Amino acid sequence: MSQTLLAPKVKVNQKWQLWINGKFEDGASERTLFSPATGKELCKVSEASREQVEKAIKAARKAFDEGPWPKLTAAERAQFLFKLADKIDEKASELAELETINGGKPLRESQYDIADSANCFRYYAGLITKPSGQAVNVPAPSFSTVVREPIGVCGQIVPWNYPLLMAAWKLAPALAAGNTCVLKPSEYTPLTAVYLAKILEELELPQGVVNIVLGDGPTAGQPIAHSNLVDKVAFTGSVKTGKAVAQAALGNLKKVTLELGGKSPMVVFSDFDVDTAVDYALFAIFCNAGQVCSAGSRFIVEESIYDTFVSKFVARAKKIRVGPGLDSETEMGPLVSETQMKRVLEYIQIGQKEGAKLELGGEQLKGGKYGEGYFVNPTIFSNVKPNMRIVQEEIFGPVAVVQKFKGESEAIKLANDTPYGLAGAVFTSDVTRAYNVIKAIKAGITWINGYHNTYVECPWGGYKQSGWGRELGTFGLDAYTEIKQINLNLDPQPIGWFE
Ligand code: NDP
Repeated sequence: MSQTLLAPKVKVNQKWQLWINGKFEDGASERTLFSPATGKELCKVSEASREQVEKAIKAARKAFDEGPWPKLTAAERAQFLFKLADKIDEKASELAELETINGGKPLRESQYDIADSANCFRYYAGLITKPSGQAVNVPAPSFSTVVREPIGVCGQIVPWNYPLLMAAWKLAPALAAGNTCVLKPSEYTPLTAVYLAKILEELELPQGVVNIVLGDGPTAGQPIAHSNLVDKVAFTGSVKTGKAVAQAALGNLKKVTLELGGKSPMVVFSDFDVDTAVDYALFAIFCNAGQVCSAGSRFIVEESIYDTFVSKFVARAKKIRVGPGLDSETEMGPLVSETQMKRVLEYIQIGQKEGAKLELGGEQLKGGKYGEGYFVNPTIFSNVKPNMRIVQEEIFGPVAVVQKFKGESEAIKLANDTPYGLAGAVFTSDVTRAYNVIKAIKAGITWINGYHNTYVECPWGGYKQSGWGRELGTFGLDAYTEIKQINLNLDPQPIGWFE
């Protein structure tokens, strides 16, 4: 297969600065970003000091308490968000290139992410203008209404696997509801967030409504989770950091939503076409090189088709074209960073030491088109036991484990046998069984005979240690609002409770 490296139009060698109170400024320090596809230096980005993060929080506070944004009508905010969505579409090719250059994923995946980001802004622009609240029939002479109001300043901490999309999932409902925001992208993938700031500036978003602070978790993330000036923190990332964020948020009991990843099961019954199941399995685990919170990473396969499934899965996975994201032939890109690659390779070693059978992959790909990039080939383990670390822990890389079950109840038991509960799927042609199994799986996002379809209209979030609360859909908007009851006394008379 010939390699066709696209020449990106977007300029990476430019100033990547913080955006605070409507102005771009240099950070207190600088970080060098490395290309996941080559391992070579990509560019330098500014990073904020704690003081600059505090400044951003204060700007968001002022914009909420005194600025025009929360007082605009829903239709006015919607108008802005529609324009923003259109602008993202207009700049889609540059944004997609940036996402691929910075995070490594194949361009076709970045293109989907950018389109989904625009649609997320569009969805919340539409939703905020729809009727909400309640009028309640309470005893006369009172009249009660229930209204939703913005929460205030929202701190938003996002990871590196879907940089712009995760920012959109958080900014869109927050802005639609009238909040102001301080967004912290991952230290590894800040480029599209800064590009977004440029768009927001061009569209003349009022000062301080969105602030973007770059930097690592301890310097730029933790002060957001801690600050008493922040009313809500929304976080996507690992369980460990999520717990630290929740702990830090306790100081002023800020509202918290957490989206923390998973170890999601895909259950395959023997009555389902094996080739089709394998096709979905490839998509479930190797899309974005497995760096997806909802990735299907545990394949729980009925005993009678186990061997066939494993051999077909291995045969198809072997053919996946791994390469740089800008190569038009590439189907799976590198991992985001050297750290993540080492973490994944370490898990592969752990799996081998635990006695699982390595059916495919397990190595870093080097030389030729891989250069010094962070490439790990598709990896499949069979003969795994439920208590192995590679079965229990989120690896966040292209590593699948295939488990065996006998009977529906064992399938359900295995599916639920991790601390996570983000996503899950079942493949069967028996509709009753499909429904029973999916009902029994403790997860917030589920599919029957499918995997990974994500709809902005449907809630996203997990059971158990996969998080708190939901993003997307109407639930995602609720998470950025407070509920207030307003009781109007239509006939105020002394009540004489005290003499
Ligand atoms: P983290 O959970 O550490 O990072 C997620 C975000 O939180 C990043 O923006 C990070 O900043 C920030 N952060 C880190 N420490 C703090 C802190 N103390 N207070 C506030 N914010 C903080 O994930 P990693 O990037 O380290 O990835 C590790 C593992 O997490 C992955 O291998 C994967 O298992 C899981 N993960 C899950 C994701 C999901 O979608 N559910 C997404 C990403 C990771 P920075 O990175 O800049 O330091």
